Amino acid sequence: MVFSSQTIHQLLSQSSEQRQALRQVYGRLPTTRCRRRTLCCSLLPEMTLVEALSVIQLLANMTTPNQIKLSRGLVHYFFLNAVEIAFCPFLDGDACLIYADRFFGCRAYGLWSRRYYEEQVARSREAKRLNQQQWEGLGVSLPQAVVDFQLPYCSQVEIEGDVRIDDQELLNVLDTVETISGQFEAWHLSFRQRYFSDLSFLLASLTFGMAEAVRLKFETVRDILSTGKRDRLAEAVEGLPNLWMGLR
Ligand code: SF4
Repeated sequence: MVFSSQTIHQLLSQSSEQRQALRQVYGRLPTTRCRRRTLCCSLLPEMTLVEALSVIQLLANMTTPNQIKLSRGLVHYFFLNAVEIAFCPFLDGDACLIYADRFFGCRAYGLWSRRYYEEQVARSREAKRLNQQQWEGLGVSLPQAVVDFQLPYCSQVEIEGDVRIDDQELLNVLDTVETISGQFEAWHLSFRQRYFSDLSFLLASLTFGMAEAVRLKFETVRDILSTGKRDRLAEAVEGLPNLWMGLR
């Protein structure tokens, strides 16, 4: 199943209860203070469909200049994330533009135990190496530093108040988020399996069509690695339609 703007429109109109439930679940996580504010925001986190819909609704309610800026940032991120470590498209200076609605991955970073975090990193590293092999099969060698990049374990996040949270409770919260998102059944699975839980891929696919988005990404990455040229990317991003206008 492939998302269209109409699908997103329908899912938004049918999901207010789930988006409200998501906010309540997030409330089970402690309020935190971070001494390295936003330094960890180098990657757009993976997310569930209901989390993506919550942020899409925010985008739909933004002013047109902000919609265009964030859409370009997300598409830019999608095309470039195989060749460079860019910042998360929602980062603006040292502030997160969607902080109150940021994803579970952002909220939980710094709360996991070191052991559990390192296990997650090992799984992610494995997935990135498989992705690297697929690119190799197409004749493109991705920069090793980008393939190997992982956010380091963070011990700088402080929980406010006398609250404790452990890996099991974080996993319980994540399970609940998954259950809420799972109410969208096939769409929830499609977002995970076909779009790799990646909002930037969803947006690029809505804009160009899925096959064309993948083709453009491949050509952009190949151009950058072989000649350093970014003309194709600049052209694609410059001409982006504003997808969010009709979604308010
Ligand atoms: S959504 Fe916000 S908090 Fe999460 S990685 Fe992006 S900028 Fe950082």
